Amino acid sequence: MNARLQRLRALLQEKELDALFVSQAENRRYLSGFVGTAGFLIVSSSKAILATDFRYTEQARMQAPDFEVIQVRGEPAEWLLQTAGDLGLKRVGFESPDLTFYTYHRLTEAIGRGANWQLVPTEKLVERLRSVKDPQELAALTSAAHLADRAFEHLQKTVRPGMQEREAAWEVERFLRESGSEFIPFELIVASGPNAALPHAHPSERRIAGGEPVIMDIGARVDGYCSDLSRTFCLGKQDETFRRVYDIVLGAQLTALATLKPGMTGEEADNLARTVIVQAGYGDNFGHGLGHGVGLAVHEEPRLGMNSKDVLSDNMVFTVEPGVYLPGWGGVRIEDMAVIEQGKVRPLTGSQKIYLD
Ligand code: ZN
Repeated sequence: MNARLQRLRALLQEKELDALFVSQAENRRYLSGFVGTAGFLIVSSSKAILATDFRYTEQARMQAPDFEVIQVRGEPAEWLLQTAGDLGLKRVGFESPDLTFYTYHRLTEAIGRGANWQLVPTEKLVERLRSVKDPQELAALTSAAHLADRAFEHLQKTVRPGMQEREAAWEVERFLRESGSEFIPFELIVASGPNAALPHAHPSERRIAGGEPVIMDIGARVDGYCSDLSRTFCLGKQDETFRRVYDIVLGAQLTALATLKPGMTGEEADNLARTVIVQAGYGDNFGHGLGHGVGLAVHEEPRLGMNSKDVLSDNMVFTVEPGVYLPGWGGVRIEDMAVIEQGKVRPLTGSQKIYLD
């Protein structure tokens, strides 16, 4: 944890901030190790404070040894001024994408005019640190990825035509939880036939039929770290559209995995796959980005997509998930989670991608 605090402190110096007020849940856990669901951090050049309420004080003391734990009551407007005053802080950064307008408003009201300190908006300081994983994080992500692979294997053995999408989704969820996954990071997707044309479909009571595309998008969680895996399959004989679209999407995905390099921006990475799909004539049917970082959150930095200036580097973990969606027919998405290691991309998920005739 201490190395993470050191990296954050270097950033604070660069931004000329006396401290960062951390409200974002995963950032709180990342910096402190505290996994409780309520609390705030104040990190200055010399102090690291975790403020939480009565319910979590004991837990926080055990889980966040690098932090001084203080017990607070009520909202930040009722105690942050005192804490900041005691520490002699002048410029305190806050996480502008996360702090609610309500809390911000109450805080500025409490600080009032003529105060000798101010709140300074910051964006994604800790998120940027989180995007580069350390060995401990990579181990958890690898376990979560393997668990997702095993769940896909399980689904392949159990799914039959006539099964409802939500029955299939529950089968996967049950397997994941019984195999050691912590709470599932997102609503699992099993989308069949025309439902597969919706990139974020909810599993419905629709019964899966033979010969139609089925997209499965699942993830597990290990030690707080998520995985994200999608495969598209077909029970029974595929139609001609399935073969054509599947080969294009797989070609795009393999191209990106083989040619993506550190130093590229998220936009350049996205383009590797997008070019393949555009040239095949399906550019308009690939309406989302190529992928996203995965860690304590299932969607985090870096973003791989159009207009993303995020620069990819070693030890980043992200998904590579091109898709083509045809309204009325369905869709194909193939998603792996991968890490960049010593300049090369290595997939962490390994479920088979070849459909069988
Ligand atoms: Zn994803």
